[in-house]
Amino acid sequence: MSNYNWCHGPECHTQHTQSRVRGSGDNKVLRTIKIKQDSEYLRESVFSHFCNQRCLMDFIRLHKDRIVALAPRREALETPIKVEKEKYESYRYDWNSDENGATRRVPYMATRTTIKSVDND
Ligand SMILES: [Zn+2]
Repeated sequence: MSNYNWCHGPECHTQHTQSRVRGSGDNKVLRTIKIKQDSEYLRESVFSHFCNQRCLMDFIRLHKDRIVALAPRREALETPIKVEKEKYESYRYDWNSDENGATRRVPYMATRTTIKSVDND
């Protein structure tokens, strides 16, 4: 098993960086980046096959129709939740509350909305 992957970015070999230059004299080329698979973290990452964000996004743009065809979604997914609303006292700031231009904290009742997971088991 090889311990590297070639970057799968379709334009990787056209980007003008020193790290891609190979060859000598008048026979120089820009070569696709070789990605060493030298850590578990990298091997499990999407960047085991892409040298950078641009190469990843170029690949996705070029192949998006085939990528989504791997796991098509024809209807929305839903996650059951509970939405809890609670009133609490908060403050707003009145910037012109008196003739001296001093600000004043003005209390008001605010609403806090919390989305809670529902255990389906
Ligand atoms: Zn690349």
